[in-house]
Amino acid sequence: MPDVIDQYGWSEELARAFAPHARAGRMPGRVVVQHRDGYVLVTEAGELRGKASGRLLQDAGEGGYPAVGDWVALTPDPADPTATIHAVLPRRTAFTRRAADSVRKLQVVAANIDVVFVVTSLNADLNHRRIERYLAAAWQSGARPVVVLTKSDLSADPQAEAAEVAALAAGCPVLVVSAREVVGLEALLAQVKAGETCVLIGSSGVGKSTLVNAFLGRTRMAVDAIREADDQGRHTTSHRELVLLPGGALILDTPGMREVGLVDADEGVSEAFDDIEQLARDCRFNDCTHGSEPGCAVRAALDSGALDPARWANFQKLGVELAAVEEKADRVARDAERRRLAALQKTYRATKRDHRGGAGE
Ligand code: GDP
Ligand code: ZN
Repeated sequence: MPDVIDQYGWSEELARAFAPHARAGRMPGRVVVQHRDGYVLVTEAGELRGKASGRLLQDAGEGGYPAVGDWVALTPDPADPTATIHAVLPRRTAFTRRAADSVRKLQVVAANIDVVFVVTSLNADLNHRRIERYLAAAWQSGARPVVVLTKSDLSADPQAEAAEVAALAAGCPVLVVSAREVVGLEALLAQVKAGETCVLIGSSGVGKSTLVNAFLGRTRMAVDAIREADDQGRHTTSHRELVLLPGGALILDTPGMREVGLVDADEGVSEAFDDIEQLARDCRFNDCTHGSEPGCAVRAALDSGALDPARWANFQKLGVELAAVEEKADRVARDAERRRLAALQKTYRATKRDHRGGAGE
């Protein structure tokens, strides 16, 4: 089994999904860069440029185009340096956003992320509401969130702040780091196993690039050393958005991720507001609106101080925004189902045709 795709996280599960493509003579690859006019892929044949086939572009539904982090089935063409991408393998996780040209279209920004670092800084503007939003986006993607509080050198009591954040982070790890004082960086990377992919999300200025650079430091030096030894300049072409770190973890750093943070659907919010959902289950009425109904557990918690009013307000605000995108999510699900059935029908007809051919009917 070729090493390079294993390093990029190739798995048994992917190999199974890939089996029909292998039979069709295709090669697996992972998207490491997405350009306006194509992709860069790592494959067992080295780094290749790639383009989606006309068929894939035509058949891909919403969110169906390859994105950074995706595994794809491709065929290299000896006469053309650009490989053809035929299919995107099923994604384990995905970050989506509305397309720039239309808020009605969903776009995949990054796929197959294992760990999402929700990054916020420990200076004056530590904002719990914002952390909740990013956490919701992280849960929504399907990846494991880890909260990272940066610039601990600027906080008088980082551990106390971490304990506060842990209370709203619904059981996910909360780590304290300082890039300046080189504290906590190893513990951060220890959250990501070899072959797993992580991303950093969070507002601008919280120290994400500084962390990425700290992780990449050694890699950059290693690449520079190779570059010196290789006067063909072979290593100079690769600007990657998906990068292999020395310890075997992968880090995805694509411009699109910087805009992530808007909540797209319900599940992510439920997990980020786990405690409120639990409370609401204790309301006397199943359809309690937590207004003035008797036996409302939410109001009781607000009255007793067990539930922070600001947290409750934020939960309600998200609910309103979500109602607006829900209708949309339904439509996407319906479209996906329709496409699935159409593909089944096509396969069914093709099989029937083959059988007729084979039996000479
Ligand atoms: P990004 O927008 O999230 O990528 O944030 P940057 O990585 O660009 O960092 C924003 C600013 O915070 C820069 O001026 C960094 O030097 C500073 N910064 C980053 N990490 C630390 C840290 O651990 N401690 C302190 N005091 N400043 C930091
Ligand atoms: Zn209630």
